[in-house]
Amino acid sequence: MRLTKTQRSALKQKYGGKCAYCGCELGDRWHADHIEPIVRDWINGGCLRPENNHIDNFNPSCASCNIVKSSASLDSFRRTIQGFIKSLNRDSTQYKFAKRYGLIKETETEVKFYFEKKL
Ligand SMILES: [Zn+2]
Repeated sequence: MRLTKTQRSALKQKYGGKCAYCGCELGDRWHADHIEPIVRDWINGGCLRPENNHIDNFNPSCASCNIVKSSASLDSFRRTIQGFIKSLNRDSTQYKFAKRYGLIKETETEVKFYFEKKL
């Protein structure tokens, strides 16, 4: 569904103008994210989960959270973020170096979305 200007404006204020996921301040270029994904059908057009395409299923999101979340569920998005530590330790020389010099301290903190902290 395409949001009207009024719906989009109300959605942006759902969490005080902040991204529902990371809590950053939303600028002018933000995304209306489907909380439960609609899963776009890029081959045939339309979407595979049209039942999720309704106004109550939207969260305001910064572009980077929306792009990383893509068509994932909230739990899957959370697991993806949680897994970043593992991939940084495996793939990023700069990360490992910074960690060795005490610049980075890893924790076992559970990923909690901004909108979950606001509840
Ligand atoms: Zn965000």
